[in-house]
Amino acid sequence: MAVTSLPAIHASHSGCWLRDHLGTRPVGKGEAIMAAADTPLLLLNAPLIASRLGYPDLSGLDLLELYAFVHPARFMVPTPKGLAQALGLAEPRTDDGVPALLQAAAEALLATCEDPAWPEREGAWSALQSLVRLRWPWAGLLAPKIAQPQRAERWLFARLPEWEEAPERPQPAQIVLDGDAITARLAELTGSGAEQRPAQQAYARAAGAMFAPRAGQRQPHMVLAQAGTGTGKTFGYLAPASLWAEQSGGTVWVSTYTKALQRQLRRESQAAFPPERAGRTGPPVVVRKGRENYLCLLNLEDALQGGFTGRPAIMAQLVARWAAYSQDGDMIGGDLPGWLGTLFRKRGITALTDQRGECVYAGCPHFRKCFIERAARASAGAELVIANHALVMINAARAREVAQRPTRIVFDEGHHVFEAADSTFAAALTGAETVELRRWVIGPEGSQRGRRRGLAARLADVASYDADGARAIADAREAAAALPGDGWLARIVEGAPFGPIEDLLAETRELVLSRDESGGQEAGYGLETEAAQLGGGFIEVAGRAQEALEALRQPLMRLALRLEALIEEGPDWLDGPARARIEGARGAIGWRTDLLSGWVALLARLGGPGDPEFVDWLALERSEGREWDIGLHRRYLDPMKPFAEAVLAGAHGVMMTSATLTDGAETQNGDWSGAVERSGAPQLGVRPEVFAAPSPFDYAKNAEVLIVTDVPKGDIPALANAYGRLIEASGGGALGLFTAIRRLRAVYGRIADRLARGGLPLFAQHVDPIDTGTLVDIFRDDPRASLLGTDALRDGVDVPGHSLRLVVMEQVPWPKPSILHRARRLAHAEKFGGGGSRGGGQAHDDRIIRARLAQAFGRLIRTGTDKGHFVVLSSAFPSRLLSAFPPGTPVRRVTLDAALQSVAGRVSEGSVTPLSSETRP
Ligand code: SF4
Repeated sequence: MAVTSLPAIHASHSGCWLRDHLGTRPVGKGEAIMAAADTPLLLLNAPLIASRLGYPDLSGLDLLELYAFVHPARFMVPTPKGLAQALGLAEPRTDDGVPALLQAAAEALLATCEDPAWPEREGAWSALQSLVRLRWPWAGLLAPKIAQPQRAERWLFARLPEWEEAPERPQPAQIVLDGDAITARLAELTGSGAEQRPAQQAYARAAGAMFAPRAGQRQPHMVLAQAGTGTGKTFGYLAPASLWAEQSGGTVWVSTYTKALQRQLRRESQAAFPPERAGRTGPPVVVRKGRENYLCLLNLEDALQGGFTGRPAIMAQLVARWAAYSQDGDMIGGDLPGWLGTLFRKRGITALTDQRGECVYAGCPHFRKCFIERAARASAGAELVIANHALVMINAARAREVAQRPTRIVFDEGHHVFEAADSTFAAALTGAETVELRRWVIGPEGSQRGRRRGLAARLADVASYDADGARAIADAREAAAALPGDGWLARIVEGAPFGPIEDLLAETRELVLSRDESGGQEAGYGLETEAAQLGGGFIEVAGRAQEALEALRQPLMRLALRLEALIEEGPDWLDGPARARIEGARGAIGWRTDLLSGWVALLARLGGPGDPEFVDWLALERSEGREWDIGLHRRYLDPMKPFAEAVLAGAHGVMMTSATLTDGAETQNGDWSGAVERSGAPQLGVRPEVFAAPSPFDYAKNAEVLIVTDVPKGDIPALANAYGRLIEASGGGALGLFTAIRRLRAVYGRIADRLARGGLPLFAQHVDPIDTGTLVDIFRDDPRASLLGTDALRDGVDVPGHSLRLVVMEQVPWPKPSILHRARRLAHAEKFGGGGSRGGGQAHDDRIIRARLAQAFGRLIRTGTDKGHFVVLSSAFPSRLLSAFPPGTPVRRVTLDAALQSVAGRVSEGSVTPLSSETRP
């Protein structure tokens, strides 16, 4: 069948267009749905079109699936414009041109399959045979286009390269970097033609101090470097880092909080760490992520061989196509298109990763090709490892090998280290966590299927060789049967919990529901209550749960000791692969016993006096009224305490850097005490070097903060009106930030259609069935598009240039009044008293709000030529928060009408109107 004879459909917020043998015409939603039911239609992004049509069952010939098959691991923005650009076709100017583009794109992609020069041909014919069997809608159209290769294609698992074992690296040489050499390296990186940037040079020299030899045990060199946007931080620290790695033979870790910065670092580090440097074998730069980000080949094999059926099986085939061409097997934020998972179902992608630590290491037939193992080995030999804060903390705390432990670390986006430490060192005894632990010990039960195996199956050889080991495994299995299993939540809600942990969770739920006074009950939000004044009944149930957990912890500890002894004894059957597998199992058991110890400690203190180091509470997790988890939570009052022990004590040099390490009010006074405290340095008695450079950008000329005072708080129609008109005034290019998903959805629902009719597409997190990374790609790609989102966007959006010219915050971003927040607020007030810029609970809150405002404002001006407005809809914005904005930034309190004039004025004139301002001091 000719593709041009296939009808095509496109739907946006402004209407639907159908193209068939009669040409292209606008149609109503009902007619579009009827047409889709009659015959498979060409469409782009079926879930999105389905949500536009309000018809969730929509299916058809999705161009995104075809693209993923033809060009696996190639980037594409999943919009008509993105598709046209990716295929070199003319971009449709209006919505009614999209159906014709879909036909042309399908034709181009099918023609590619006939082209002898198609770079991704290998494996396509074999994959197609499976897809034919799975009745993939595209299979029939592709079959005549893809010729059977003359020689049988190697299947994926044979094609992937094996990683090489590398010898252990010697310790890094102890060297002191020369300041002039750092400056010279910086000049090399920035290019001889680049303008001289004294602030960047000073920054690079300051960063160099972290690489000096350590003066004492547990005494790392620490540098806190605050540098405004545009200083050139990345090259600033890569210059000394690359020099040190080259001269010392060691590894530098750069840790980020967002994926956007990770991508930027991957690009920029190419210049600092050229791959062709003499004497090296592996890649000099490696991106490391948590295991759960990578494809597990064993899970994929299981999915391809019947573990997945129906649509997920089609997805597995497309993932297998991608795996053969992927740079590193990273499924979350790597080269797997973020949109692929949402075309099928999210769980499908996560089921292909190693979520539960069930890796069997050398017992796995794909061990030598495993993406996770490759990344781990490559990082041990790399000069630069790019990772995120959580992974750096986990590796420092419990890396299997010394070579995997970071000792020279640059924490970029350093203002997030505190919250990353807060979640890394948290304990949560919840239903979801205990179910995972039960599965890890027992393996699949009842109707569960898949390759996953319990502890007994993974360590069968140990059990048959060692009687004590076998007993420990059997005891652990028996004890794990007391943990919640499938259906636990339903049993608790029905009042029929099973076993001591479910009893505890049922009591927890009851207590939270009876004590909550947050008003969240009706709104359907999560609920929480303090772990205080608990009755005798609760303590009794908690005691039985504690015994049950202890009964599991004991045999796991015995097993870990047996495994250690086995490795020492080295029996005949313990060859290299078996040893690696047992070492892997030992590591996995180690962190599970740590987990159990944390839970036992949490329960043990419930009846007695509180531990001032921790904040404990009980929570019922809900979204939109639906319960999804119940549990007890524990956080360190100061998470930098465990951070200092796990990360800083073993490190030799650590730098924390950001545009906002100190709070605006602190910066004004040259006060570093807050930043030093938040770095964890005082826990080890270390005094960090500090460095500060202001941003070189001309904020007075290029930016303006508008505080709109006449949009009443809580008035959704007024809020929606303000957003709609501001986006119209700026002609799109707006990022709208919300503190509540409910309000985001309400605003979106009221303005999306109207804006779309004016040619201003609006996208939203939590509304559009598109992952956040892809939403940002779409936003970046279309200067008329706008994006609404919540907290995650406040940091993760790096959109320089014209595409982002307006940021709108719905209100002052007050911290959520949670139990944890209240405890830290109180601790701050007790420590600093009621006066001064650091005193009192309000000062604590203000610092948090200023940090959020500064991060949100930081989205707006990314380069020296960016211009834009930052709007806060707040009738009562306290002046003390204005120091959140960079010095010199004009600030005005205005009506919405005046704000609209300003926003529209900048867009039409292309420059800033001079304004009387409450310029930020
Ligand atoms: S080694 Fe582990 S993570 Fe890697 S493919 Fe095998 S089971 Fe999966």
